[in-house]
Amino acid sequence: MQFIALDLEWNNVYGKKIHGFFNEIIEFGAVKVDEKGDIYDEFTCLINTQVGKKLRANTKELTHITNDEIKTGVLFPQAVSNFKKWIGKEESVIMTWGDGDVRVLIDNCKYFGCGDTIPFLENYMDLQRYFQRLKGTSKSQQIGLSAAAEMVGISDDGYSLHRALDDSKITAKCFAKIREDIIIKEYIKECNEDFYSRIIFKNKVISSLKNPLVDKTHLNCTCEGCGKPCEALTKWKYSNQYFRAQYYCADCDVKYQVNVRFRKLYDRTEIRKIVRVIEEEIQEEA
Ligand SMILES: [Zn+2]
Repeated sequence: MQFIALDLEWNNVYGKKIHGFFNEIIEFGAVKVDEKGDIYDEFTCLINTQVGKKLRANTKELTHITNDEIKTGVLFPQAVSNFKKWIGKEESVIMTWGDGDVRVLIDNCKYFGCGDTIPFLENYMDLQRYFQRLKGTSKSQQIGLSAAAEMVGISDDGYSLHRALDDSKITAKCFAKIREDIIIKEYIKECNEDFYSRIIFKNKVISSLKNPLVDKTHLNCTCEGCGKPCEALTKWKYSNQYFRAQYYCADCDVKYQVNVRFRKLYDRTEIRKIVRVIEEEIQEEA
């Protein structure tokens, strides 16, 4: 199995054909990394953009890529075909930092007529997810590539951050530092129909209690002090992703604010429940 770290740069533009904003890929950068963590092959390619003929100011600022450089690039389908050739015949796993690059690739492949799937993607691994699992960091906070590099003692000195090739090198180095083949196996996804359905699925917050996916057994509150069920002081109200209500424990004389979010994911409903004590304002005696 060949491990490849891939990174893309893109330019956010308005696509008239699709009547919406579109992340047009402007650069591919990738490296192959061996068992010892050594990089033994690299690929870099600029794309001659077609949707946005000019780069946006923030893209230029971030990447330091110029409009003149973009003009020297190849068309997107050519870049895909060159990249596929570079990967070669060996079975490969493509790794990216977060799955955003894969979504952008799917959109670009569709837009430029390369198909509904990514022609070179056989197996995929989201290295950010794997890294966060190994480091035991919170799922709600995503760790950026340079922060991750710092965590494992890789210096990004001498690299051009936000250039595809150098970012792919840092990705590969992070991978080498935390490579544990047994756990990695769980994170390698075969890029079949299910993979694509999952990755393009948009998670949706449920905003009505009438939705059959809402499991009402979560809409309650147990007192943190005595462990008994609390009584509801208010009805459940939905605002800003959460259903919110206040509860009260008479035995302990404690009020609770309970917030519950139900989110429809691809194959399950995710529940997030936050309970906190409502601190009463201290009344000063006259
Ligand atoms: Zn209590």
